Amino acid sequence: MIHLTKSDIVCFLGDAIVNAANSSLLGGGGVDGAIHRAAGMGLYEECKTLGGCIPGDAKVTGGYKLNAKYVIHTVGPVWQGGGNNEAEVLASCYKQCMEIAIEMGLGSIAFPNVSTGVYGFPKPLAADIAIATVKQMLLLKPEMEVYFVCFDEENYRLYKELM
Ligand code: ADP
Repeated sequence: MIHLTKSDIVCFLGDAIVNAANSSLLGGGGVDGAIHRAAGMGLYEECKTLGGCIPGDAKVTGGYKLNAKYVIHTVGPVWQGGGNNEAEVLASCYKQCMEIAIEMGLGSIAFPNVSTGVYGFPKPLAADIAIATVKQMLLLKPEMEVYFVCFDEENYRLYKELM
């Protein structure tokens, strides 16, 4: 089941939130910074042990001081005009996160709009990819509750139109 909310993902009460991280996994701006600030130093310490993450991949940690039990860190593509596999890499982010959630037997997961902030991915295309990929993965576990958590009005409107 897919849900849409306009809120701060840090507040999500459920099994896992997805972090739109950078390759170092050591924190940054945007949603990444907000998640690390709310989770506390324990998250940073665990992230230091992971050896980074390549774009399109995902790694899981505990949720520490967050309401969510786990954080699934994924690294989205930096938009470079579209000719650099950005769409495939973004789809892979959503797929890998869903795979981890299914393997771990989680019941709920919340996604931010990966790559649509500082990484500059066009929001309409990113929304298409996110929804299509999640729908496909949900066929494997239809009872999973998936939340698209939009922070900015434009993404919220786009998702609302598409869903
Ligand atoms: P990226 O580097 O992957 O583009 P950003 O954090 O810059 O990551 O932006 C990704 C998306 O996260 C943007 O759409 C932005 O509006 C959203 N965002 C920023 N802060 C939060 C938050 N606290 N909760 C949910 N989404 C957020």
